[in-house]
Amino acid sequence: MNNFSTLPRQTYLAQVCLRSLLALTAAGYGSGAWCNDATLINPLHTARAAPQPAASSTSAPASAASAADRSDAPIISLRSTVAKQLREAIEQSNAASGIKKKSAAEIAAAEKSAAKNPHAVAAKGRNVPAEVRSRRMTPAIAARTASSHGQGAVHEAHGAPHWSYEGETGPQAWGQLQPSFNLCAIGKRQSPIHIEDSEALLGPAEPLQISYLPSGGSVVNNGHTIQVDLAGENTLTIRGSTYKLVQFHFHHPAEEKLNYKGFAMVAHLVHQNAQGQLAVLAVLFDPGEASAMIQKVWTNMPLDVGDRVSLPVGLIDLNETLPKDRRYYQFLGSLTTPPCTEGVLWLVLRQPMTLSREQLKLFAQLFPNNARPTQPSFGRVVREAQ
Ligand SMILES: [Zn+2]
Repeated sequence: MNNFSTLPRQTYLAQVCLRSLLALTAAGYGSGAWCNDATLINPLHTARAAPQPAASSTSAPASAASAADRSDAPIISLRSTVAKQLREAIEQSNAASGIKKKSAAEIAAAEKSAAKNPHAVAAKGRNVPAEVRSRRMTPAIAARTASSHGQGAVHEAHGAPHWSYEGETGPQAWGQLQPSFNLCAIGKRQSPIHIEDSEALLGPAEPLQISYLPSGGSVVNNGHTIQVDLAGENTLTIRGSTYKLVQFHFHHPAEEKLNYKGFAMVAHLVHQNAQGQLAVLAVLFDPGEASAMIQKVWTNMPLDVGDRVSLPVGLIDLNETLPKDRRYYQFLGSLTTPPCTEGVLWLVLRQPMTLSREQLKLFAQLFPNNARPTQPSFGRVVREAQ
C-alpha cells in the first residue's frame, strides 16, 4: 500500500497527511500505526477511534480527530486542521473510488460491534480471499483458543467494513463494501437458495455419516448471531471426506426456503475437512416444543457483543437436535455472510425440528432479522439425497 506512484492522488495526499500527523505527534499523541492499510481502507472509522498510547496489532489505530479534539496542548489547532484536511481528502478519495461514505450512526455501530463472520471459521481454498485465508486456524486451534472471533475482532480493528442485515450496509450492498466481498454481488453459487422438490434430482442415497459426542466449548455473541465454538470430537463424513464440526450458529428467520415455505430459525453446523473445505449442515426449526439444545445455548447466551461464555464440558450433544428423518438436500453454495466465499457443500435436512415461542422470542429480540435473502440458483444442481 506504500507504492505512491500507483495511488490515486487523494489517497497519496491522505498518506502525506497521515505522515505529517505522525511527525507532529511523535512526541506523545501518535501510536505510530496511522499509515497502515487499515487507515486507508476505513479511514472514517479510524478517524473516530480512541487514541491508543501503546497500540498493539489488535488495537484500533489512534485517532486523528479525537486526538485533535483534545484541548490541553497548543499543537491542537494545527492537528485539528490537518485532521480535517485528512478526512476531506479521504472522503474525496473514497468518492472517486466508489467507496460509500458511512453515516455517523454506522460508524458508531461498527465501532460498537466487533463484527465477525459466523461462517468464516477457517475458510481456505482457491476461492478464499487472502485475508480470510491468512487468518485460517485449524479446527483444533479454533476449539482450543475459541478465538475465531478474536480473529474477527482483529479484522475489524484493521478496517474491515461494517456489514449488516438492513440499511445501507445490508445484503444488497455487501458486494460493494470491499473488493474482497465482491462474490456477494457477482457469485453464481451463492447461498441461501430456495429449494424446490420439483427441481431437485432424486437420489441415489448417500447417507450422512454423523458422529457427534457430548462436547463443551463456548458461546459468543459476535454481533451478527449467537455462535457456539465446539471443543469436542464431532465429525461428518460425506462424499468421501470427513469434516470436523467447528462451530454452529443461528439465523432468524431461517435463510433457506423449502417448497415456498419459510422457517422460524435455522442452525448452521459448520464443518471443515483437512483440506480446509467447508460443509454446512442446516437444521431448520418451526415453532413448537422447546429445543433442549437451544435451551442450553440460550442459558449461556452472552448478551453483549463480543462477550464469550464458556460451556461445561460435555454440555452440548447435537444428536438431540437432529431430526429422525435424515433425508437432506445437497448442493454447492457459499458462506451466507461476507465475503460470501463459494465452494461450500450445503446439506439441508428436510425435516424441521422445533423450538418454543419463548426461545424464538429471546433470540429475535437480539437479532430481529439476521437472514440473508435467497439467491438465484443459476441452474445449479440440487440433489435430494437418501
Ligand atoms: Zn449461517
